[in-house]
Amino acid sequence: METRIDRFGSVREDKINQLKELIAESNNIVFLGGAGVSTESGIPDFRSGAGIYNTESGTKYRPIDIIAHDFFMEHPEEFFDFYKRKLIYPDARPNKAHKALVRLERQGKLKAIITQNIDNLHQEAGSKCVIELHGSVFRNYCMDCGKKFNIEYIAAQEGVPHCDRCGGIVRPDIVLYEENLEHENVDNAIKAVKKCDLMIIAGTSLTVYPAATFAQFLKHNRIVIINKSSTYMDLKAMLTIHDNVGDVLDKCVPKRVSRKNSASAKKTSSKTSAKKTTTKSKNAAADKKVTAKKAPAKKPSTGKSASSKAKKDESKS
Ligand SMILES: [Zn+2]
Repeated sequence: METRIDRFGSVREDKINQLKELIAESNNIVFLGGAGVSTESGIPDFRSGAGIYNTESGTKYRPIDIIAHDFFMEHPEEFFDFYKRKLIYPDARPNKAHKALVRLERQGKLKAIITQNIDNLHQEAGSKCVIELHGSVFRNYCMDCGKKFNIEYIAAQEGVPHCDRCGGIVRPDIVLYEENLEHENVDNAIKAVKKCDLMIIAGTSLTVYPAATFAQFLKHNRIVIINKSSTYMDLKAMLTIHDNVGDVLDKCVPKRVSRKNSASAKKTSSKTSAKKTTTKSKNAAADKKVTAKKAPAKKPSTGKSASSKAKKDESKS
């Protein structure tokens, strides 16, 4: 392992070793990740200096206003123009962070990845236990007939993408501002947090609801924060590392495991390196997990999440 020789070097190595120990003694780890997990794959985050919220939107609107339900309904052209330029990265590939989490899952230690990202990179790396809080740009559906479309379909159409069956607008299965998260995802995330014996929170500034509140369901204080900048949880956590998520996880998650897990771990790891999944199988895998979610966006919204929540509940029952 590389050792830094600056005066913080020993502190950093200390923390890496502490995290290794915490991982070694845990058997039910939950990982909560944000945009910082994907920045090393070339996908910008939202809030940092170079983040999406601070870049030019290329229109008169602010990025943060564009990614909202009412804006989408009222200005679909501007929405899709921004969306295609700034929010989809079909060529991005998993980085060291995603790969380390795959190893941790195969070693039987990681039980859930709760992600705020919409880029599908965890699944592409080979993770199975992913809870996508904010949906995925890889899933798209017609707002009128519900037909499903892949990301290539959206990218290939000029302007607002329309359904080839009924002509309705095809939208990404992502959660915009003013829209509700899938209840099932939130429930599953909370269940996983309640059961875990170690929670690793990484690459998120912890400012977005409800991710910021998940830690309150912990029955212990075994929290590790890995983030470039500080978060409000830093002091509450057992261990805080201000660094790149990928570098830290790569060092802390063993490449191989000794003892009984090694045989199966080896078998599966050769499979991972073999090939990335095709878009088709990605979507198929992801679709399985998704519950019906097209109703709320259909009607013009009042902009109040309470009312769209009510609508959604109504449509579900
Ligand atoms: Zn349609």
